[in-house]
Amino acid sequence: MDLTVRTSSCVCGRVRCEAVGAPILSGVCYCDNCQEGGRRIEALPHAAPVLDADGGTSYLTYRSDRFRCVSGAELLTDYRIREGSPTRRVVASCCNSAMFLKFEPGFWVSSYRARFAGDAPPVEMRTQTKYRRAATELPRDAPSYRGYGFKLWGRLIAARLAMFIGR
Ligand SMILES: [Zn+2]
Repeated sequence: MDLTVRTSSCVCGRVRCEAVGAPILSGVCYCDNCQEGGRRIEALPHAAPVLDADGGTSYLTYRSDRFRCVSGAELLTDYRIREGSPTRRVVASCCNSAMFLKFEPGFWVSSYRARFAGDAPPVEMRTQTKYRRAATELPRDAPSYRGYGFKLWGRLIAARLAMFIGR
């Protein structure tokens, strides 16, 4: 079993989160909400970039039971695009670093890849590319989907089953 521990840190280092094992998925999302959420966080004072140059947001998505904040949790602040939205983007308020995204009913956490030091797993897919506005060509290093793509759902279902059987 892969027990690699990856650490994501805010820019100033006061907030640290740890992720254990292989992510469910390493992906880039271009959906309009990720773009809007990223722009809003980037507009906060001294915020580090959230969006990639082509408007995508790179995430390492982990099972919720394999991702936790190990220091500075009291500094985390939730941002929602709309009041009552089930999706919150969690920012380290010390330095306005985007740390992770949580979709409330979900059993997963999508952590912002930019916050991980060292080697992160390669990008496995790009989703919601119908919202991509960049003039540059879409990178071809991984499959792209105009929507979420069957592969994403397959990964989530497989992760859920593994949790049910206690793996
Ligand atoms: Zn910080």
